Amino acid sequence: MRLAILGGGQLAWMLALAAEPLGISVAVLDPSRDCAAGRIADLVCAAYDDPDGLDRVVAGADVVTYEFENVPATAVARLAERGVPVLPPPSALEITQDRAREKELIAGLGITIAPYVLIESPDDAVAALEQVGVPGILKTRRLGYDGKGQVRVKDAADLSAAIAELGGTDLIYEGLVEFTRELSVVVARGTDGSTAVYSPVENEHRGGILFVTQAPAPNLNPSVKEAAEAAAIAIAEALDHVGVLCVELFETEEGIVANEIAPRVHNSGHWSIEGAVASQFANHVRGVVGLPLGDPSCRGVTAMVNIVGTEPDLQELLAVPGASVYLYGKSPRAGRKLGHVTIVAENTDDLAGRLARVRALADTAWSA
Ligand code: AMP
Repeated sequence: MRLAILGGGQLAWMLALAAEPLGISVAVLDPSRDCAAGRIADLVCAAYDDPDGLDRVVAGADVVTYEFENVPATAVARLAERGVPVLPPPSALEITQDRAREKELIAGLGITIAPYVLIESPDDAVAALEQVGVPGILKTRRLGYDGKGQVRVKDAADLSAAIAELGGTDLIYEGLVEFTRELSVVVARGTDGSTAVYSPVENEHRGGILFVTQAPAPNLNPSVKEAAEAAAIAIAEALDHVGVLCVELFETEEGIVANEIAPRVHNSGHWSIEGAVASQFANHVRGVVGLPLGDPSCRGVTAMVNIVGTEPDLQELLAVPGASVYLYGKSPRAGRKLGHVTIVAENTDDLAGRLARVRALADTAWSA
């Protein structure tokens, strides 16, 4: 069997690592010759909308998947012409590429979201202030990631300035949610509609970038766990999704508030390689090629720490008991994700000490 992946970054690399033991070969399409997945997969080096590159990456493939949601519509159309199944389905991509359509879908399932108003011109600021008020957060409807394409708004003047800053149209203004912490849920769905949901995890960000994930989320109220898992499954079913998706949530005093959907394997699911019986990568591969899904249960308590900016000393990281290190082979740059460390322990006390050591090393490297 052969899997084609649009995008050859670290997510595609970890998908290829998971495909290997199943005897599934992998081809990736990426504009960069040095991409992480190119180390172990067949690399087609071309732009994502390059017709020849798309033809070459799908040649001989049984299924096409992707590692990022902003796949150009022209690429999806070209692939559809080739007759190779694209999974998750292009309809799931279309909805999750647009925050407005995504919110409509989530709210339609009865899942709580932040109040919002679409902004199509600077004049819409009046309605936004009336209906949502301040404080709020203005976001581009498309192409935002890691906190980019969004501006915090404290008052009416801020909102006008933010609308101008983000281009005046195709924006969404949301009320600021007072959350106690951020959670996310990864779910895999098979071609037969079966689902495997991972325990909700707790995510801590630094400067808009994920820093630490703890799995399962510590001290999670059973009703919050149940609601978060049910929300992820309902969303996957509504999208007729196949493969992995991740729902990012806020936990509040009143329960969960859904923020956004990533229709792909997610950084907050990296812990599952060591921390779950079957990882999100294994389950994405299994899902899209039509194999039975694996068990998403936790193997213990796990933390994942992102390596951002520069790499800490490998000797020191690996000296931490239970630590596994993944380096993506990317050159150092401020704010760039270069790798991650997973730490698995049998209990939260053991995990706390080990996490503190890895966190300190990653923290210093981030600021270096
Ligand atoms: P997003 O790009 O939507 O994932 O937003 C990036 C980060 O901004 C989130 O992880 C939150 O920390 C914060 N954020 C986004 N939307 C809201 C909101 N409506 N209320 C409070 N914080 C938010």
